[in-house]
Amino acid sequence: MNQANLPPSIKFIERDWLSANHIIFFDGSINQQQTTIVDTGYKKHADLTLALVRQTCGQNAKLDRIINTHLHSDHCGGNATLQREYPRVQTWIPAECAAAVAKWDSDWLTYAATGQQCDRFAFTHTYAGGAGFVLGGYDWQTIAAPGHDHTMQLLYCSQLRVLISADALWENGFGITFPELNNQSGFAEQAQTLDMIDQLDIEWVIPGHGPMFSDVKAALLRARSKLDYLRQDPARHHYLALKVLIKFLLLDQEQITFANLKEQISRAKLFNQGFAALSNASSVPLLDQIVADLVRSKAATVSGNVLFNA
Ligand SMILES: [Zn+2]
Repeated sequence: MNQANLPPSIKFIERDWLSANHIIFFDGSINQQQTTIVDTGYKKHADLTLALVRQTCGQNAKLDRIINTHLHSDHCGGNATLQREYPRVQTWIPAECAAAVAKWDSDWLTYAATGQQCDRFAFTHTYAGGAGFVLGGYDWQTIAAPGHDHTMQLLYCSQLRVLISADALWENGFGITFPELNNQSGFAEQAQTLDMIDQLDIEWVIPGHGPMFSDVKAALLRARSKLDYLRQDPARHHYLALKVLIKFLLLDQEQITFANLKEQISRAKLFNQGFAALSNASSVPLLDQIVADLVRSKAATVSGNVLFNA
């Protein structure tokens, strides 16, 4: 089995680094089809997400269920648009997020805390690790995967030997460890999550970003080596996280004046905490250092007082 020949009841839609990938599942009969999407991308391209859902499910089809692996803005940013288009759609979120979504605590949900955008949405159902879903005619089990986000859930199908790994494991690495930015433990949990994945019998991984991949052992080796490097000196992780979060702002806004960037950063809790943690790290002003790094790695360009996405 490869990307092209997943069962016809399962469609993998690869997106990018601003919008997480989607997986769409078909259940039931042609006349009574049930359609489920796992993760819905980022708000900026929610119209594209809707177009992809229509294209995959058919113009007249309905969407029955949204399942979010976690509630970072790039995984649930299409929820509001899909709920408007399909008012009867069920929305399943990790149970630990229920209170924050109900009162829309945008700091807790990381949107205000990172300067990222996410339209408010409601949920109809919650789920926890060990829950079962029938998706695409196969039994899937949810598995708690703390680390990148302590509420995150993966989906595993032992029959197909497929893991939906969200941001716990990519072909090259894993998502930044958000709890560490909040002065909570995160590296140990990420290590346990990688160990958990290592125990599963897997032929294909469908990650939150990037293409499907099958060499899980090699991916785990790369992920563990990255984690060890970051754990040895948490300042490395703070620095990487700030860089990743600024790149995300650029992906979203495409160009930002330095004055505006500084203002956005000053309003965002996770940026403030990251900069505070690194305040004595270097005599070079940290933001200048990060920008220079982004330019060097061709992730950004500078013209005058404007930073551009590249
Ligand atoms: Zn994430």
